[in-house]
Amino acid sequence: MHSLSRTLLFSAFSLVAASTTIALTWGQQPTPAAAASHDLGYKDTPMLPGLPWHVHDPDRPHARVVTPADVPGGAPSDAIVLFDGHDLAHWRSGDGPPKWEVGDGYFEVVPGTGDMATKEKFGDCQVHVEWQEPPDVTGTSQGRGNSGVFLMGRYEIQVLDPWQNPTYADGAAAAIYGQWPPLVNPGRPPGKWQVYDIVFEAPRFDGDKLVKPAYITVFFNGVLVHNHQPAMGPTLHRRLAHYEPQPVEDSLVLQNHHNAVRFRNIWIRRLGGYDEPEK
Ligand code: MG
Repeated sequence: MHSLSRTLLFSAFSLVAASTTIALTWGQQPTPAAAASHDLGYKDTPMLPGLPWHVHDPDRPHARVVTPADVPGGAPSDAIVLFDGHDLAHWRSGDGPPKWEVGDGYFEVVPGTGDMATKEKFGDCQVHVEWQEPPDVTGTSQGRGNSGVFLMGRYEIQVLDPWQNPTYADGAAAAIYGQWPPLVNPGRPPGKWQVYDIVFEAPRFDGDKLVKPAYITVFFNGVLVHNHQPAMGPTLHRRLAHYEPQPVEDSLVLQNHHNAVRFRNIWIRRLGGYDEPEK
Protein backbone atom coordinates (compact mmCIF):
# COMPACT_ATOMS: atom_id res chain seq x y z
CA MET A 1 0.00 0.00 0.00
CA HIS A 2 1.17 3.50 -0.86
CA SER A 3 2.44 5.37 2.18
CA LEU A 4 0.01 8.28 1.65
CA SER A 5 -2.92 5.87 1.41
CA ARG A 6 -1.74 4.17 4.61
CA THR A 7 -1.58 7.52 6.37
CA LEU A 8 -5.07 8.48 5.21
CA LEU A 9 -6.46 5.10 6.19
CA PHE A 10 -4.82 5.34 9.62
CA SER A 11 -6.26 8.84 10.07
CA ALA A 12 -9.73 7.60 9.18
CA PHE A 13 -9.40 4.76 11.72
CA SER A 14 -8.19 7.22 14.34
CA LEU A 15 -11.21 9.45 13.78
CA VAL A 16 -13.63 6.56 14.08
CA ALA A 17 -11.81 5.29 17.18
CA ALA A 18 -11.83 8.73 18.77
CA SER A 19 -15.53 9.29 18.17
CA THR A 20 -16.27 5.78 19.50
CA THR A 21 -14.27 6.54 22.66
CA ILE A 22 -16.23 9.74 23.22
CA ALA A 23 -19.52 7.93 22.67
CA LEU A 24 -18.53 5.15 25.12
CA THR A 25 -17.38 7.64 27.73
CA TRP A 26 -20.62 9.52 27.50
CA GLY A 27 -22.58 6.24 27.60
CA GLN A 28 -20.81 4.91 30.72
CA GLN A 29 -20.98 8.01 32.87
CA PRO A 30 -24.43 8.83 34.22
CA THR A 31 -25.17 12.41 33.32
CA PRO A 32 -27.05 14.73 35.70
CA ALA A 33 -30.03 14.27 33.41
CA ALA A 34 -29.87 10.49 33.80
CA ALA A 35 -29.62 10.75 37.58
CA ALA A 36 -32.63 13.04 37.61
CA SER A 37 -34.50 10.45 35.55
CA HIS A 38 -33.85 7.83 38.27
CA ASP A 39 -31.45 5.79 36.18
CA LEU A 40 -30.10 4.05 39.32
CA GLY A 41 -33.32 3.74 41.31
CA TYR A 42 -36.14 5.47 43.10
CA LYS A 43 -36.84 6.78 46.58
CA ASP A 44 -40.40 7.95 45.87
CA THR A 45 -41.73 4.41 45.49
CA PRO A 46 -43.61 2.22 48.06
CA MET A 47 -41.67 0.37 50.77
CA LEU A 48 -41.34 -3.38 50.15
CA PRO A 49 -43.40 -5.21 52.83
CA GLY A 50 -41.29 -6.05 55.88
CA LEU A 51 -38.12 -4.67 54.29
CA PRO A 52 -36.18 -1.44 54.77
CA TRP A 53 -36.08 -0.88 51.00
CA HIS A 54 -38.20 1.04 48.54
CA VAL A 55 -39.21 -0.67 45.31
CA HIS A 56 -36.13 -0.13 43.08
CA ASP A 57 -34.22 1.38 46.02
CA PRO A 58 -30.84 2.75 44.85
CA ASP A 59 -29.36 2.11 48.33
CA ARG A 60 -30.19 -1.63 48.40
CA PRO A 61 -26.96 -3.70 48.51
CA HIS A 62 -25.93 -5.12 45.16
CA ALA A 63 -25.15 -8.80 44.71
CA ARG A 64 -21.46 -9.59 44.89
CA VAL A 65 -19.87 -10.77 41.69
CA VAL A 66 -19.28 -14.50 41.21
CA THR A 67 -17.53 -15.72 38.09
CA PRO A 68 -19.20 -18.81 36.67
CA ALA A 69 -17.20 -21.71 35.29
CA ASP A 70 -16.32 -21.85 31.61
CA VAL A 71 -17.90 -25.29 31.31
CA PRO A 72 -21.22 -26.67 32.58
CA GLY A 73 -20.76 -28.31 35.98
CA GLY A 74 -17.52 -26.46 36.68
CA ALA A 75 -16.85 -24.73 39.98
CA PRO A 76 -17.76 -21.03 40.17
CA SER A 77 -15.26 -18.58 41.65
CA ASP A 78 -16.66 -18.70 45.20
CA ALA A 79 -16.79 -22.50 45.47
CA ILE A 80 -14.52 -24.65 47.61
CA VAL A 81 -13.24 -27.36 45.29
CA LEU A 82 -13.29 -30.56 47.34
CA PHE A 83 -11.89 -32.75 44.57
CA ASP A 84 -10.36 -31.47 41.35
CA GLY A 85 -9.19 -34.83 40.06
CA HIS A 86 -5.84 -35.01 41.82
CA ASP A 87 -5.79 -35.65 45.55
CA LEU A 88 -7.86 -36.10 48.69
CA ALA A 89 -6.32 -33.19 50.60
CA HIS A 90 -9.75 -31.87 51.63
CA TRP A 91 -10.82 -35.22 53.08
CA ARG A 92 -10.29 -37.40 56.13
CA SER A 93 -11.38 -40.84 57.22
CA GLY A 94 -12.01 -40.75 60.96
CA ASP A 95 -9.02 -38.83 62.29
CA GLY A 96 -6.66 -40.09 59.60
CA PRO A 97 -6.12 -39.77 55.86
CA PRO A 98 -8.65 -41.45 53.59
CA LYS A 99 -7.66 -44.72 51.94
CA TRP A 100 -9.93 -44.49 48.92
CA GLU A 101 -8.08 -44.91 45.64
CA VAL A 102 -7.33 -41.91 43.43
CA GLY A 103 -7.31 -42.70 39.71
CA ASP A 104 -7.03 -40.56 36.59
CA GLY A 105 -9.34 -37.66 37.47
CA TYR A 106 -11.50 -39.59 39.90
CA PHE A 107 -11.41 -41.48 43.19
CA GLU A 108 -13.02 -44.78 44.07
CA VAL A 109 -14.45 -46.34 47.20
CA VAL A 110 -12.16 -48.99 48.64
CA PRO A 111 -14.30 -51.47 50.59
CA GLY A 112 -13.47 -51.80 54.26
CA THR A 113 -11.68 -48.45 54.60
CA GLY A 114 -14.49 -46.43 56.12
CA ASP A 115 -16.39 -43.35 55.00
CA MET A 116 -14.75 -40.14 53.76
CA ALA A 117 -15.58 -36.81 55.37
CA THR A 118 -14.55 -33.27 54.51
CA LYS A 119 -12.09 -31.66 56.91
CA GLU A 120 -14.09 -28.46 56.62
CA LYS A 121 -17.61 -28.22 57.99
CA PHE A 122 -20.67 -26.73 56.31
CA GLY A 123 -24.25 -25.72 57.05
CA ASP A 124 -26.41 -24.19 54.31
CA CYS A 125 -24.73 -25.09 51.04
CA GLN A 126 -24.84 -25.89 47.35
CA VAL A 127 -23.04 -29.10 46.42
CA HIS A 128 -22.00 -30.49 43.04
CA VAL A 129 -21.01 -34.17 42.94
CA GLU A 130 -20.39 -36.47 39.98
CA TRP A 131 -20.41 -40.23 40.48
CA GLN A 132 -20.24 -43.41 38.45
CA GLU A 133 -21.51 -46.92 39.03
CA PRO A 134 -19.11 -49.83 38.36
CA PRO A 135 -19.57 -50.95 34.73
CA ASP A 136 -19.34 -54.61 35.73
CA VAL A 137 -22.72 -54.97 37.41
CA THR A 138 -22.80 -57.16 40.50
CA GLY A 139 -25.27 -57.49 43.36
CA THR A 140 -28.91 -56.55 43.56
CA SER A 141 -31.02 -53.82 45.11
CA GLN A 142 -29.15 -52.04 47.94
CA GLY A 143 -26.07 -54.18 47.23
CA ARG A 144 -25.59 -52.76 43.72
CA GLY A 145 -23.30 -49.74 43.62
CA ASN A 146 -24.38 -48.32 46.96
CA SER A 147 -22.77 -45.19 48.37
CA GLY A 148 -24.26 -41.90 49.49
CA VAL A 149 -23.79 -38.18 49.88
CA PHE A 150 -24.47 -37.24 53.50
CA LEU A 151 -25.14 -33.53 54.08
CA MET A 152 -23.79 -32.54 57.50
CA GLY A 153 -22.86 -36.23 57.86
CA ARG A 154 -26.55 -36.92 58.57
CA TYR A 155 -28.90 -36.47 55.61
CA GLU A 156 -28.24 -39.03 52.90
CA ILE A 157 -28.89 -38.51 49.23
CA GLN A 158 -28.65 -42.09 48.12
CA VAL A 159 -26.09 -43.19 45.55
CA LEU A 160 -27.10 -46.48 43.93
CA ASP A 161 -27.30 -48.07 40.50
CA PRO A 162 -30.43 -46.39 39.09
CA TRP A 163 -30.56 -48.53 35.94
CA GLN A 164 -32.96 -51.50 35.98
CA ASN A 165 -32.17 -52.14 39.63
CA PRO A 166 -35.35 -52.91 41.60
CA THR A 167 -35.22 -51.79 45.22
CA TYR A 168 -37.53 -50.06 47.69
CA ALA A 169 -38.58 -46.62 46.46
CA ASP A 170 -37.18 -44.56 49.34
CA GLY A 171 -33.82 -46.29 48.93
CA ALA A 172 -33.41 -45.62 45.19
CA ALA A 173 -30.72 -43.41 43.71
CA ALA A 174 -31.29 -39.74 44.66
CA ALA A 175 -33.79 -40.70 47.38
CA ILE A 176 -33.65 -38.82 50.67
CA TYR A 177 -32.95 -42.22 52.13
CA GLY A 178 -35.79 -43.83 54.05
CA GLN A 179 -38.02 -40.77 53.59
CA TRP A 180 -38.63 -39.50 50.06
CA PRO A 181 -38.09 -41.25 46.72
CA PRO A 182 -36.92 -38.99 43.90
CA LEU A 183 -39.78 -37.37 41.95
CA VAL A 184 -38.54 -39.11 38.79
CA ASN A 185 -35.61 -41.37 37.87
CA PRO A 186 -33.31 -39.72 35.29
CA GLY A 187 -30.46 -42.15 36.06
CA ARG A 188 -27.94 -43.32 33.49
CA PRO A 189 -26.57 -46.86 33.01
CA PRO A 190 -23.55 -48.15 34.94
CA GLY A 191 -20.25 -46.84 33.59
CA LYS A 192 -21.75 -43.42 32.75
CA TRP A 193 -21.08 -40.35 34.88
CA GLN A 194 -24.07 -39.07 36.87
CA VAL A 195 -24.48 -35.66 38.46
CA TYR A 196 -26.06 -34.41 41.66
CA ASP A 197 -26.60 -30.70 42.25
CA ILE A 198 -27.89 -30.28 45.78
CA VAL A 199 -29.14 -27.26 47.69
CA PHE A 200 -29.25 -27.91 51.42
CA GLU A 201 -30.66 -25.74 54.16
CA ALA A 202 -29.54 -26.88 57.60
CA PRO A 203 -32.19 -27.30 60.31
CA ARG A 204 -32.53 -24.59 62.92
CA PHE A 205 -33.02 -25.12 66.64
CA ASP A 206 -34.02 -22.89 69.52
CA GLY A 207 -32.31 -24.71 72.35
CA ASP A 208 -33.61 -28.28 72.06
CA LYS A 209 -36.62 -27.26 70.00
CA LEU A 210 -36.67 -27.64 66.21
CA VAL A 211 -37.84 -24.38 64.66
CA LYS A 212 -37.11 -25.24 61.02
CA PRO A 213 -36.38 -28.65 59.45
CA ALA A 214 -33.64 -29.31 56.94
CA TYR A 215 -34.78 -28.52 53.39
CA ILE A 216 -33.33 -30.38 50.44
CA THR A 217 -33.43 -29.61 46.72
CA VAL A 218 -31.74 -32.00 44.29
CA PHE A 219 -31.16 -32.00 40.55
CA PHE A 220 -30.16 -35.47 39.28
CA ASN A 221 -28.51 -35.27 35.86
CA GLY A 222 -30.07 -31.81 35.55
CA VAL A 223 -33.58 -33.01 36.38
CA LEU A 224 -35.36 -31.82 39.53
CA VAL A 225 -35.95 -34.77 41.87
CA HIS A 226 -36.53 -32.96 45.21
CA ASN A 227 -38.04 -29.48 45.36
CA HIS A 228 -37.26 -27.79 48.69
CA GLN A 229 -38.42 -30.94 50.46
CA PRO A 230 -38.28 -31.00 54.28
CA ALA A 231 -36.32 -33.92 55.72
CA MET A 232 -38.01 -35.81 58.55
CA GLY A 233 -34.70 -35.88 60.41
CA PRO A 234 -31.24 -37.38 59.97
CA THR A 235 -31.11 -40.59 57.94
CA LEU A 236 -31.86 -43.89 59.65
CA HIS A 237 -32.17 -47.47 58.39
CA ARG A 238 -35.45 -49.29 59.16
CA ARG A 239 -36.46 -46.67 61.72
CA LEU A 240 -38.37 -43.39 61.78
CA ALA A 241 -36.21 -40.32 61.43
CA HIS A 242 -36.46 -37.64 64.12
CA TYR A 243 -34.63 -34.45 64.97
CA GLU A 244 -32.25 -33.88 67.86
CA PRO A 245 -30.17 -30.74 68.37
CA GLN A 246 -27.07 -30.83 66.19
CA PRO A 247 -24.09 -28.59 65.38
CA VAL A 248 -24.61 -25.59 63.12
CA GLU A 249 -22.06 -26.97 60.66
CA ASP A 250 -20.67 -30.44 60.02
CA SER A 251 -18.72 -32.42 57.43
CA LEU A 252 -19.98 -33.56 54.07
CA VAL A 253 -19.61 -37.34 54.10
CA LEU A 254 -19.37 -39.92 51.32
CA GLN A 255 -20.53 -43.38 52.32
CA ASN A 256 -18.44 -46.53 52.09
CA HIS A 257 -21.02 -49.22 51.43
CA HIS A 258 -18.33 -51.61 50.14
CA ASN A 259 -19.10 -51.05 46.45
CA ALA A 260 -16.51 -49.58 44.06
CA VAL A 261 -18.38 -46.36 43.21
CA ARG A 262 -16.31 -43.57 41.63
CA PHE A 263 -16.52 -39.82 42.23
CA ARG A 264 -15.13 -36.75 40.48
CA ASN A 265 -15.59 -32.96 40.26
CA ILE A 266 -16.88 -32.19 43.75
CA TRP A 267 -17.37 -28.61 44.87
CA ILE A 268 -19.39 -26.79 47.49
CA ARG A 269 -20.54 -23.22 48.11
CA ARG A 270 -21.65 -21.76 51.41
CA LEU A 271 -25.00 -20.05 50.99
CA GLY A 272 -25.69 -16.55 52.19
CA GLY A 273 -28.90 -14.56 52.37
CA TYR A 274 -30.39 -11.63 50.54
CA ASP A 275 -29.18 -8.06 51.06
CA GLU A 276 -25.81 -8.89 52.58
CA PRO A 277 -23.59 -5.78 52.91
CA GLU A 278 -21.44 -4.93 49.92
CA LYS A 279 -17.73 -5.37 50.59
MG1 MG B 1 -26.21 -45.40 50.56
